[in-house]
Amino acid sequence: MEPKIGAVAETLLERYGPYPDESAGPVLDQLVWFLLSTRTTVENCEAAYRALRDAFPGGWDQIAAAPEAALYAPLRPAGLFRSRARNLVATLGAIVERFGGTSLEALRSWSNRDIESFLTSLPGVGLKVARCTMLFGLGRPVFAVDAHIWRVTGRMGWHAFRGGAPSAAGADFLNRLIPDGVDVRSLHVNLIRLGREFCPAGAPRCAECPLAAFCAAGAVGCAARG
Ligand code: SF4
Repeated sequence: MEPKIGAVAETLLERYGPYPDESAGPVLDQLVWFLLSTRTTVENCEAAYRALRDAFPGGWDQIAAAPEAALYAPLRPAGLFRSRARNLVATLGAIVERFGGTSLEALRSWSNRDIESFLTSLPGVGLKVARCTMLFGLGRPVFAVDAHIWRVTGRMGWHAFRGGAPSAAGADFLNRLIPDGVDVRSLHVNLIRLGREFCPAGAPRCAECPLAAFCAAGAVGCAARG
């Protein structure tokens, strides 16, 4: 089935609405948020991020100079708190070394390629975190792919890659597939919402799914799900 990405994006907008058009704040805040969001729930990420900001009123400068162990308690709600603390302190150190302070605002004038290359060089920052930071923190129209988006778009027939997590090649393939003019932030968020509501890793609810008309798996009653 030919991907009807524009129609899918419109259908999702009708159901879930657009992503709010508001300032995301400092780029570094976004990067840390997405770093904490990996392999945990939104609620636990939020709890850890708030605890971190409350524990260090001096901001990222104070955290960059702190011993890793001082980050354990605030990061504990997100799980994996030791590795998160190690990566965060190392990432902040690398940012200070590159820019002379704990700010990523200089990235706003960089090319997408250079931003992605720099962000993915930071400890613990993978392609998904880098592209989420570019999409939501810098307003760049790059399509960040998480496990929900990977699963839903695979079932819809947009790609033939298999497995539970998107490969770099698969994420690049999907990124190139998105046509100009599509609201990429809304498509990203709304596909995740659709995935959670109708198309989880277990049995999808194709009969009720608003994307069934555009979906390879839905067209055969989910017999092809996987
Ligand atoms: S029709 Fe079924 S398989 Fe396709 S996106 Fe919807 S729930 Fe998922």
